[in-house]
Amino acid sequence: MASNSYNPYENAQAQFDRVANIIGLDDATRSFLRQPMKEYHFTIPIKMDDGSTNVYNGYRIQHNDARGPAKGGIRFHPQETVDTIRALSMWMTWKCAVVDIPLGGGKGGIICDPRNMTDNEQERLCRGWVRKLAKDVGPLIDVPAPDVMTNSKHMLWMLDEFEQIHGGRFPGFITGKPVGMGGSLGRTEATGYGLIYTVREALKSLGMKIKGTSASIQGFGNVAQYAGRLYEELGGTVVSVCCWDNKDKKAYTFLKKNGLDIAALFKMTDSFGSIDKEQALDLGMEILPPDAWLEQDVDILMPSALENQITLENVDKISKQVLLIAEGANGPINTDADEKLRKSGMFVIPDFLANAGGVTCSYFEQVQSNANYYWEKEEVLRKLDYQMTTAYKAVEDTAKKNKLYMRDAAYVISINRVAQAVKMRGWV
Ligand code: GLU
Repeated sequence: MASNSYNPYENAQAQFDRVANIIGLDDATRSFLRQPMKEYHFTIPIKMDDGSTNVYNGYRIQHNDARGPAKGGIRFHPQETVDTIRALSMWMTWKCAVVDIPLGGGKGGIICDPRNMTDNEQERLCRGWVRKLAKDVGPLIDVPAPDVMTNSKHMLWMLDEFEQIHGGRFPGFITGKPVGMGGSLGRTEATGYGLIYTVREALKSLGMKIKGTSASIQGFGNVAQYAGRLYEELGGTVVSVCCWDNKDKKAYTFLKKNGLDIAALFKMTDSFGSIDKEQALDLGMEILPPDAWLEQDVDILMPSALENQITLENVDKISKQVLLIAEGANGPINTDADEKLRKSGMFVIPDFLANAGGVTCSYFEQVQSNANYYWEKEEVLRKLDYQMTTAYKAVEDTAKKNKLYMRDAAYVISINRVAQAVKMRGWV
């Protein structure tokens, strides 16, 4: 979420400009790629269950589609801003390019708080969003997916509305659908698992294995839950998890020094990622202030909640023991804090590489949906691991060869790929 002093779009543009300078990108391509291609801003009036009408603001922003249809999630969040969506749409372009899937970048959102809406109200909101965009999105144009506070239930309502309007079955319109209704096995796990595949590879290059390492995670939504599970399965110890408490409207860190049990934690978590404090205390966890997650003496930090979480105010609280930061969220480290970490030599797996597992599996889902033939889970996860590992290695190689920070190396690969597509099409 964007605070007044932080603008994620400026952050995304600063990251882009930095690498555009490194690779000497020409002016026309630079000005074309540092802003979105197309934006849709609209209102969605919704009849609430009590008979009143609320008007919501909805958006879809398509940053670039030179390499394939725009692709990216839809967020429901009360603090959503146009600039947040612009930044996220840009990051989607780089994300699809770094894992080398034939898709561009887009992002959507609605300023709303689904935690305080009934299912019927959320369904009307999903259908309203699609009605406003029905001609501007689609399997060959722009393919939405879940993101913060949206899930397979929302995707199916959106698909149904799209199909009612267009008269037919178009399962390739949207990804993150329920399994059995056009969804792919492994899609729910994909972002979190993908994060751990990159952590595994980063540790390998530090001469380590996941077994015996410890980690602290911010967030306990879809990404964090599955990252935590796989990390634990591979022998890692999750020491703390920080998440938002919807009743108290603040975040807490849940700590157990000898290791949390992620499966047990999962059972006491609501659908928005809030952990039940009573049950946590019963299991012997300590409940601490929000920043405690990044002060722990662990090997790995996985910020997997929202953007702008590691800032100049808290970056110095990071323990000297931390070897690696794997960005499960999009943009969790702000520009100033990133500069500090870069100078300190911190090993950061940048967001658009680390969390690309979700969109990679979305691509597999689209392929399966369009072919109407569905793969086994093992096949999906094997392909996901291959794609993530290959992308990770390419970024690490580029970083080593050119003595670059991992974020810059990932940008070098992505910007070059997208710039080439734009030039080959004759757009610039
Ligand atoms: N919302 C996810 C992301 O930020 C997934 C996008 C997708 O699957 O299209 O990467």
